[in-house]
Amino acid sequence: MPAKAILISIGDEILYGQTLDTNSHWISGELDSLGIRVIKKITIGDSREEILDNLAESEKLADMVLITGGLGPTSDDLTKPCLTEYFGTQLERNEEILSHIKGMFERAGWEMSESNAMQADLPANCTPIKNSIGTAAGMWFDQNDTVFVSMPGVPFEMRQMMKDSILPKLKEKFVRDTINHRMIRTIGIGESKLAEIIKDWESQLPKTIKLAYLPTMGAVKLRLTTSGDNATTQKLVQAEIDKVIPLIEKFVYGYEDEEIEEAIGRMLKAKGMTLAVAESCTGGYLSHKITSVPGSSQWFNGSFVPYSNQLKNEQLHVDMKIIQEHGAVSEPVVLALAKNVRKEFKSDVGVSISGIAGPGGGTPEKPVGTVWIGYADAKKNVAKKFQFIRDRELNIKYSAVAALNMIRINLDKD
Ligand code: AMP
Ligand code: MG
Repeated sequence: MPAKAILISIGDEILYGQTLDTNSHWISGELDSLGIRVIKKITIGDSREEILDNLAESEKLADMVLITGGLGPTSDDLTKPCLTEYFGTQLERNEEILSHIKGMFERAGWEMSESNAMQADLPANCTPIKNSIGTAAGMWFDQNDTVFVSMPGVPFEMRQMMKDSILPKLKEKFVRDTINHRMIRTIGIGESKLAEIIKDWESQLPKTIKLAYLPTMGAVKLRLTTSGDNATTQKLVQAEIDKVIPLIEKFVYGYEDEEIEEAIGRMLKAKGMTLAVAESCTGGYLSHKITSVPGSSQWFNGSFVPYSNQLKNEQLHVDMKIIQEHGAVSEPVVLALAKNVRKEFKSDVGVSISGIAGPGGGTPEKPVGTVWIGYADAKKNVAKKFQFIRDRELNIKYSAVAALNMIRINLDKD
């Protein structure tokens, strides 16, 4: 039986819709990969009664209760006093945490107030957890058979603390069988179509391998999970991966943690090729994704955002007549953009995007979400039309992913 966890997110701002609870989402994923089962997530405001009630309720149900939020230095943050009350203890100043907080203020050149010093006052029965990038310490409590962990609400502080100390401690205490995940990453095919193609393979999978379809923006990850990280199990999983790959090869861009923009970088680097981008409706988002990958200067020469027709014409030499006749969102325009940005930026590959992101600008022939993507290299100049949806932000994101996939497909053909 896997250990059971309950997550409690505390903060009025989450209930009011001002802050999206990304903490519990991230923690769930981390616990899942350890094989710990999250049985419940609770969101409550900064309220003493709610906090105390839910601590008591969770203690009955779970092996561990992970709490984020409510640890700030101001009086609206109640998590620490509530934990102190719940465990029937009192606050004690922790000198080590105090000197860590002092050090942070000194390095930043800020004056420290008494409320900051009070962040070093911790319930007497807790094991403090140092916050290497913030002032609110975490707290670990062992109560009967349940572990309670309280962490700051600031997402990057919480994550750092989890990675540095809490996840290793939870693993040691609760995880007997290691869980192993393998990931096959596909792109350019929907979840149901993918499931159809691998239906027979899926039905013959050994019972010890659990398969999950994880769809994300324009891509679907196939996750194979086994427990017991020994050589025999790993061989078994690898054999199943080797069986399924031939069926879906043209959609597979990578494995494990690799994102599509990283795969593109890997491919370009291996071929010693460089890339240039002319992106209109995505306004730089594709370039942002490409340059998010460390080392991208080795394969990415740069980009241009020819948002207006005038710039498409003056800077990237798209004939005004073509734009007038076919519109800026059209095959001949993206073909010319890809070809010309490749030439102007002296790159091996040129890619272009022109689309109607919305909400305005759609017509019956070219509704919102119509996007043309162009590709050019030494051997070919091709374009493809996509029809995305009505949401501006999603259209921008989908377009960038589609462009990356188009680079992948065309590089593969070379
Ligand atoms: P707190 O520890 O309550 O002082 O939280 C500090 C800040 O962290 C809040 O103002 C929120 O912006 C953020 N925060 C708190 N809880 C969450 C959560 N569950 N998910 C994402 N951000 C959060
Ligand atoms: Mg708060």
